[in-house]
Amino acid sequence: MSTSSAVPQATTPTGESRLALVRRARRIDRLLAQRYPDARAELDFTTPLELLVATVLSAQTTDVRVNATTPTLFSRYPDAAAYAAADPAELEVILGPLGFFRAKTRSLIGLARALVERYDGEVPGRLEDLVTLPGVGRKTANVVLGNAFGVPGITVDTHFLRLARRFGWTTSDDPVKVEHEVGALFERRDWTMLSHHVVWHGRRICHAKRPACGACPIAALCPSYGIGETDPEAAAKLVKSGPPR
Ligand code: SF4
Repeated sequence: MSTSSAVPQATTPTGESRLALVRRARRIDRLLAQRYPDARAELDFTTPLELLVATVLSAQTTDVRVNATTPTLFSRYPDAAAYAAADPAELEVILGPLGFFRAKTRSLIGLARALVERYDGEVPGRLEDLVTLPGVGRKTANVVLGNAFGVPGITVDTHFLRLARRFGWTTSDDPVKVEHEVGALFERRDWTMLSHHVVWHGRRICHAKRPACGACPIAALCPSYGIGETDPEAAAKLVKSGPPR
């Protein structure tokens, strides 16, 4: 059989055509949206500042623990000026259950001081400004932009990175590259919800260890099917119904 120039070139991590990859990626997202209709940021917040604080605190701990701590925190420190003027010893007591509470106390006070000094105490709504704040990287900035400002953003956390590679959407393990490569497969307006769908799937089914392939709604579209438990009954037992505690 002769090769024709009309045959799509394999330029993707899985060897499928670019068009096939885009279609498969979007199908995966649609199925995940059906599976997780309530997908959203799992951190509780009502303002950009609350989400920024909660996201910074969520490093090295679970969203459930952060959500147990933030009601006290948010009522005691209602704005950036209050954090900037906080007594570190008092803040450390509130943050104690989260672990790394001394470092987190220092981070929060430093972040709040920068907000007060450079942004009049307001959280800026642009990526280029957010990433200049101490302790705020692209991941945190995209969480805040996508969920508190309605600016589409892809949040490449540990789950997103693992799943994007398993789905064959990228071969990179550089979060910024992954953000751009995956972003190019989807409409910009879908980026924030895509992030939630993928992260929810990583927390509930496609675990780092022992993914529940036999209970996975996107098994037929996933090139990594079989790296985890494929027996339906055994896989069903691995599925988690909520966020890790
Ligand atoms: S089939 Fe397995 S590896 Fe692929 S997404 Fe589902 S659980 Fe993850």
